[in-house]
Amino acid sequence: MQIKGEMIIGRQAVQGKEGTVKAVDPSLNAQIEPAFGLASASELERACALAWTAFDQYRELPLERRAKFLETIADRIMDLGPALIERAMQETGLPQARLEGERGRTCNQLRLFAKVVRDGRFLTATLDSALPDRQPAPRPDLRLRKIGLGPVAVFGASNFPLAFSVAGGDTASALAAGCPVVVKAHSAHLGTSELVAKAVQKAAIECDMPEGVFSMLIGAGQTIGQNLVAHPHIKAVGFTGSRSGGIALMKTAAARPEPIPVYAEMSSINPVFMLEGALQSNARLPQAFADSLTLGAGQFCTNPGLLLAIDSPALDKFIEGAKAAIEAKNPATMLTPGIHQAYTSGVAKLAAIEGVSLVAQGATTGMTCGAVAALYSTDAANFLAKPDLEGEIFGPCSLLIRCRNEAELVQVAEHVEGQLTAAVHATAADIATARKLLPTLERKAGRILFNGFGTGVEVAHAMVHGGPFPSTSDSRSTSVGASAIDRFLRPVCYQDVPAELLAPELSNDNPLNIARVVNGDLAWNA
Ligand code: NAP
Repeated sequence: MQIKGEMIIGRQAVQGKEGTVKAVDPSLNAQIEPAFGLASASELERACALAWTAFDQYRELPLERRAKFLETIADRIMDLGPALIERAMQETGLPQARLEGERGRTCNQLRLFAKVVRDGRFLTATLDSALPDRQPAPRPDLRLRKIGLGPVAVFGASNFPLAFSVAGGDTASALAAGCPVVVKAHSAHLGTSELVAKAVQKAAIECDMPEGVFSMLIGAGQTIGQNLVAHPHIKAVGFTGSRSGGIALMKTAAARPEPIPVYAEMSSINPVFMLEGALQSNARLPQAFADSLTLGAGQFCTNPGLLLAIDSPALDKFIEGAKAAIEAKNPATMLTPGIHQAYTSGVAKLAAIEGVSLVAQGATTGMTCGAVAALYSTDAANFLAKPDLEGEIFGPCSLLIRCRNEAELVQVAEHVEGQLTAAVHATAADIATARKLLPTLERKAGRILFNGFGTGVEVAHAMVHGGPFPSTSDSRSTSVGASAIDRFLRPVCYQDVPAELLAPELSNDNPLNIARVVNGDLAWNA
C-alpha cells in the first residue's frame, strides 16, 4: 500500500491542508517522503462529530460483531506485510525483529480484547430482583451494566509505534469497551500510522461498522492534540509520553466545562532492589541488568533507571560485572532526534550533579542519534537530598544508589515517586528484608516482580501496567492487559425498566449466557 500523507476521517482518506510535516529517519537525521497534510479545525470537528454519531449505534452492536471487528483489524494489519515493518524501521530506527515482535503483540492484544468482549464479564451485569412484599418498604427491580464512556482520544506513543499507537492497547481497549476512537498520530512515525489507520478503516468497512467508529488526525500536540481533548464529544483520553505532555492534557481535560478522565502513562524509573543473597549468588545479574537497560535503546517505560543495594563486597563485584557488560554495549539509534537530544542532555545534567560518579559507559561510535548506555552511582544521603536525581532519563541510563544499611534502603524506597514497576532480586536468605520492603513497594508501584526486570510487559489478564503518579495519572487502572477495558466504562443502573427496553445482558433469560451476579450470587442463568 502506497503511503500518501493522508489521515483517516471515518470512511474518507483526507490530505490535510493546514501545512505539511514529514517523517524523519533518525539513523540519518533526514526527512522521508511523502509530506503529510495537517488537520484543520473543521477536520477535527468532523472526526469528533462522526465519532459521537457512531457511539450509540456502535456500543449496542452485538458483542460478537464488536469482537469480530477487533479480530479483523488484526488480520488487516497482518495483510500489510513487510511494507509496514520496513516503514516502521525507517521511521523509528528500531530493528526488524523487535518490530515484528511488536506487530505480533499488537495483533494478540486485539484478539485478547475480542475474547474479553465475547466473554461479557466486562459488562459486570448484576441483577437484584424486585421484592414487592418486603417490609417495611418493597425493593425495586435493579439491574446494572457497564457502558462505554463515549468517544476516546488516543495519543500514539513514540516508543511503541505499533503496540501503543494507532491500533495499540489504548485503541483496542476503547473499541472493546464500545467507544469510538479518534487517534492523534505521533509525528515520530507518520507513515506507519497511515498504514495502520487504513488497515483499521478497511476492517471497519468490511465489518459494516458505523462511520466514525475510528478516525486518525495528523497535527501538532499543541493545536490538534489540545483541541481534541477539549472537544465536547470526546469523553476520555489515553496517552503515553512525557510527564509534561501528560500533565498538560490532564489540565486541559480538567478545565473543560465537563471534565473528563485522562489515562496518561508518563514517567517511571522502575527501582530495582538487589538484596545481599542475590548479589552473592547470581553471577548473571550484571549481564541481565545491562541487557534490560539497553533493550530497545533503553526507550521503555519500564527501563531499570534506578538500582538500589546495600554496600558490600558482593555489590562491588556486581559493579565490576555491570561495568564490563555496559562497556561491551554498542550504541543504538533512538526514536527521534528530539528524544536523542533529551537523553544526552539528561545524562549530562545527571553527571554534573555533585556526589554522582560515572561507573560505566557503553561504546561510542559517533552514530547519528545513537544512545550511549551509562551507569552512574551515588550514595543514599545524596539521593534523598536532591530531587533532580529522581527524574526519568528516557534511554539506557541508570543510577545506582549505595545504601549503608537496610534502614537506608527502606528509606529510599519510601522516598521515590510512584512507579510502573519495582523489582526485587532476592534469595531465600533475603526474605526478611523483602518482607520489610513489600508494603512500601505495594504503595509505590503497579507491578512488583522478583528476580527479573520490568522490561517485557506480558499482555495478559493479570497484568498491571500502571501505578501512582507520576508513572500514570490514575493509579486505579492499567493500560496493558484485559483490565485496560475498565478505563473506558461506567456503570448504569436500570430501576424498574420495562423488560422490552433492557439490553440482552440484563434480560431475565440471559441470552448471551454470560457470567452475572444475580441477587448477590454468581450465576450463568437467572
Ligand atoms: P511527548 O512529547 O509527550 O509526545 C507524545 C504525544 O503527545 C505527541 O503526539 C505530542 O504531539 C503530544 N503532546 C506533547 N505535549 C503536548 C501538549 N502539551 N499538549 C498536547 N499534546 C501534546 O512524548 P514523546 O515525543 O513520545 O517523547 C518525548 C519524551 O517523552 C521522551 O524523551 C521521554 O522522556 C518521554 N517518554 C516517556 C515514555 C514512557 O513510557 N515513560 C514513553 C515515550 C516518551 P506533538 O509531538 O505533535 O507535539
